[in-house]
Amino acid sequence: MASGLAERKLDGLLVAFSPNLRYLTGFTGSNGSLLVLGGKSILFTDPRYRIQATQEVTCRVKTATGPLLAEVAATIARLGLKRIGYEPARTTCDSYESLKSRLPMRASLEPVKGWIEELRMVKSPAEIALIRRSVETNSRAFEQAVARVRPGMTEQDLAAELEYRMRRLGAEKPAFETIVAAGVRSALPHAQPTAARLKPRDLVLVDMGAIVNGYCSDMTRMLFLGVPAAKVKRVYRVVLQAQLAAIATVRAGASTAAVDRAARKVLKAHGLERAFVHSTGHGLGLEIHEPPRLGKRDKGRLQAGMAITIEPGVYLEGFGGIRIEDTVVVTENGCEILTPTSKELRGI
Ligand code: ZN
Ligand code: ZN
Repeated sequence: MASGLAERKLDGLLVAFSPNLRYLTGFTGSNGSLLVLGGKSILFTDPRYRIQATQEVTCRVKTATGPLLAEVAATIARLGLKRIGYEPARTTCDSYESLKSRLPMRASLEPVKGWIEELRMVKSPAEIALIRRSVETNSRAFEQAVARVRPGMTEQDLAAELEYRMRRLGAEKPAFETIVAAGVRSALPHAQPTAARLKPRDLVLVDMGAIVNGYCSDMTRMLFLGVPAAKVKRVYRVVLQAQLAAIATVRAGASTAAVDRAARKVLKAHGLERAFVHSTGHGLGLEIHEPPRLGKRDKGRLQAGMAITIEPGVYLEGFGGIRIEDTVVVTENGCEILTPTSKELRGI
């Protein structure tokens, strides 16, 4: 971090966004501010987290009895720091104003965009091991819950079952609100589970993720109650082909747009490109959605060690939606698919 500060001509960087804070220090409390310094950094927190912080972090810990920012400002003044970076995308106007008003005249706040997020994009082997555990826990929960799916069960029942199973298997919580969408509702890419019952001949979209040791997983699979009609099978095959084509383009150095293009090309060949209304994937780690994004207009390039999802989907009003999503890790020559769950359309 010291060279990064020097490069940006900063005396310090203030980080309060909790995934960034956790990444840099290991601190998991909900209220903390890290002052990154060239030497030993200082974590400010409140008395509720005093013991936890000393157990979790190796940097200095200061427990503030009043507002954290007052303590941060006093420390900045005492150390005589002049240029202090802050994360504009993660700072409310209120805390910016409050900090600024407490700083000495000669100290300035400098916006620093996406520095820590950029570091977080490429995962260490230890982080990949945690993501792998998260993915495996998530897939096991899926298998256990799917074994209990019956017609008449509501979308909410299935979502609750999936989340219960993941917790029993060691997840802290779901990485996002579990999506279970049956029948024509599956055409809503981010549907919330309702009291609607699963009926024979329903397509059921399940999009779920777990958090294990802070790290997220993300998977979408399709179930079908009964024997799927020809159109369902046909659209499913096309989406699967698009997903496989996108996965085949993943490797270090590939542009994120090229991965997205590979999925779109397959859908276009079957006249379904307009039914694909989101990007092909996203990074994940301490957050469920983090850089890079794999969309049409994204400019990034993949690097070995990135953990990303590949999730093309087709949404047809009145028919339903089909999405297939895996979590993969980019390698020098391709990628490793972490998600162990079979990608066939699962008949119930
Ligand atoms: Zn998902
Ligand atoms: Zn996703």
